[in-house]
Amino acid sequence: MNFRPAIIVHGGAGRGSGAQQRDRLAGCLAAARTGWTAVRQGCSSLDAVEEAVAVLEDDPLFNAGTGSSLNAAGEVEMDAALMRDTLEAGAVAAVSGISNPIRLARKVLDDGRHVMLAGQGARDFARRAGIEPVPGDTLITQAQRKRWNAGHGTVGCVALDARGRLAAGTSTGGTLGKLPGRVGDSPLIGCGTYADAVGAASCTGQGEAIIKVLLAKTAVDLLAAGLTPATAAKRAVELLERQTGAEAGLILVDRYGAVGFAHNAEEMPVCVLTPEGQTATAS
Ligand code: ASP
Repeated sequence: MNFRPAIIVHGGAGRGSGAQQRDRLAGCLAAARTGWTAVRQGCSSLDAVEEAVAVLEDDPLFNAGTGSSLNAAGEVEMDAALMRDTLEAGAVAAVSGISNPIRLARKVLDDGRHVMLAGQGARDFARRAGIEPVPGDTLITQAQRKRWNAGHGTVGCVALDARGRLAAGTSTGGTLGKLPGRVGDSPLIGCGTYADAVGAASCTGQGEAIIKVLLAKTAVDLLAAGLTPATAAKRAVELLERQTGAEAGLILVDRYGAVGFAHNAEEMPVCVLTPEGQTATAS
């Protein structure tokens, strides 16, 4: 099989000022480079995706980890998931006080007993897994307190490594002002995050709509039907729009290392790195 490694990162579908757009694109590029360095050093795509997403969780410009949107109670509750082409998956839902939910999702995946842990049980598991909780307030930025970021900036990454292994990861603070306990698409396997032997996908946008059309799995199934990643991504977003009228976007990589992305929002920062070079676009 002829393939080459690739990594693609998104910084969330939505709208923002020109300056925000530029800064988020720079953040995506930094994250993609971190993941790409891991791939080039021979790490697995799962490690690369985890590292790239963690970079974005630590960047307060994005709605994930530090900088997460606040819920209706003024608190941060985050969702994240990781999946690899062996169908091993780990996810956490509605967790608070965890700086890097993607690292907790990885612990769930590695532990292997369950696919998803939520709420307090996830926090208890984190402690046992060596991830110390942080005070909830430390994840709240001034911008989120003032609601400047308006819920935009979920993050995701998909990659194919040098051994031809696929992985996908997504992390989010969810939608602004959501009810406490609300879980979006990001941690739900097949909805916001999916990987199998054909492809890997990470989604962003209105979670309630993404869940209903299983957007990530739909996009990978379109790859399996023979579409290119670019066409599969476009068709999946069209299908979502037709069936729900909602806004969303997704990134996709296939088992050959071809990438695609599409969205029907105002913007979605995306950065791609392959042996041929890098592409970054914010439109
Ligand atoms: N999909 C995320 C959610 O609904 C939000 C987003 O991507 O902006 O939780």
